[in-house]
Amino acid sequence: MNVHDSERLTGMLEAAGYVPADPATVVDEGADVVVLNTCAVRENADNKLYGNLGHLAPVKARRPGMQIAVAGCLAQKDRGEIVRKAPWVDVVIGTHNLGSLPALLERSRHNARAEVEILESLETFPSTLPTRRESAYAAWVSVSVGCTNTCTFCIVPALRGTEKDRRPGDVLAEVEALVAEGVVEVTLLGQNVNTYGIEFGDRLAFGKLLRAVGAVPGLERVRFTSPHPSSFTDDVIAAMAETPTVMHQLHMPLQSGSDRVLRAMRRSYRSERFLGIIDRVRAAMPDAALSTDIIVGFPGETEEDFQATLDVVRASRFANAFTFQYSPRPGTPAATMPDQVPKAVVQERYERLVALQEEISWAENRAQTGRRLELLVSEGEGRKDTATERSSGRAPDNRLVHFAPRPAPGVPAWEEPVRPGDVVEVEVTYAAPHHLVADAGVLSLRRTRAGDAWQARQARPAGAPAARTTVGLGMPRLGSSAAPA
Ligand code: SF4
Repeated sequence: MNVHDSERLTGMLEAAGYVPADPATVVDEGADVVVLNTCAVRENADNKLYGNLGHLAPVKARRPGMQIAVAGCLAQKDRGEIVRKAPWVDVVIGTHNLGSLPALLERSRHNARAEVEILESLETFPSTLPTRRESAYAAWVSVSVGCTNTCTFCIVPALRGTEKDRRPGDVLAEVEALVAEGVVEVTLLGQNVNTYGIEFGDRLAFGKLLRAVGAVPGLERVRFTSPHPSSFTDDVIAAMAETPTVMHQLHMPLQSGSDRVLRAMRRSYRSERFLGIIDRVRAAMPDAALSTDIIVGFPGETEEDFQATLDVVRASRFANAFTFQYSPRPGTPAATMPDQVPKAVVQERYERLVALQEEISWAENRAQTGRRLELLVSEGEGRKDTATERSSGRAPDNRLVHFAPRPAPGVPAWEEPVRPGDVVEVEVTYAAPHHLVADAGVLSLRRTRAGDAWQARQARPAGAPAARTTVGLGMPRLGSSAAPA
């Protein structure tokens, strides 16, 4: 959600006449505006923010016209506290009024003082704001913002408000516009996609939306994140199984396998229900890859509770799991619960969970060896690709595959290189716990509109130097872990 918000912040600044600064020269030559878009879900967000602001203080001192803005969940949480702790910050803007950033930068410049603007509810649905998409071939599309659940460890509802749904027609119009620009993959985003539609009186709206989005001509892959086990309905499984463009991939947060802990977390499903959904997903789509989020060491978690989590993990055979050590978020009910689990115990359980999941991930990946997979070639997902002369792509089930981008023996050579956004078919030759390798070459290459769109972006001349330049720091790539839900 925050990554997509960063795309909007960038889009708005570009619409206001700013151009991106070269990140490599930010400190020496300087951007005129630096925006830190923050997340409060993970631990240490505050330390990271104030650490980054500390690094920027001397840069700003050397360049007095420079402006620093802090946006996102931590801004919504800390509000005026940010300019008290870091008085060199010019603008603080919350999660509900992203659209005001250019005006606040202008006002701060004009009045020569910090502007802090935090609203308590959504001003405009953010999808109506200009957006600068990070990727030419894959895009996030919000179906809702906020969350109406009250999980006791989670700060999201306090910072993002209750769930607000977009009308299906607006979502479809955005998807159609993206496809017209060359996008072939969309990920529908919501804190809890299974409650989509309750606001406008249709409990089954999400399954219908999946089918409708999946039918948009030219769109090849539809994903979504995140469903919530308590409101998951079987029509969503049917929509996934029956819509060829909806990928057989499901990220469904478990958080704990202990019913006692789930109750204390105020998550209204139980492990039996979770496992039942998984069984039905696998029955409908035997090739589905499942992933999850798990919190270890929630207050009061006993060894027996933890064993229950391990049992569910063993039974679920997740392709991967995002595992977190519980840490209190001030302002959430769990932060003041008795029986906080000592750090050493949490660490030891966490290591056992990670070891088990690594074993399962690796075994599940090894089962892919020898399979032919169709990959959507991606950009920037293989840190070692230059050294290994590989490219990277995502399989339909979202597994990351590093492949040799040359024709396999017997396949005619091509003149132009394989581009991000193109589709290749490869055979898996090796499996690691977190990725696959296909080193025997490409069995087929399909050049796509998305590849053309990616190429057109590369060819586009850099924006003319302008008086005002911006840089976004630390924006993760599309395809990274989802927020908890
Ligand atoms: S964990 Fe997810 S479902 Fe629970 S309150 Fe937070 S965002 Fe909502």
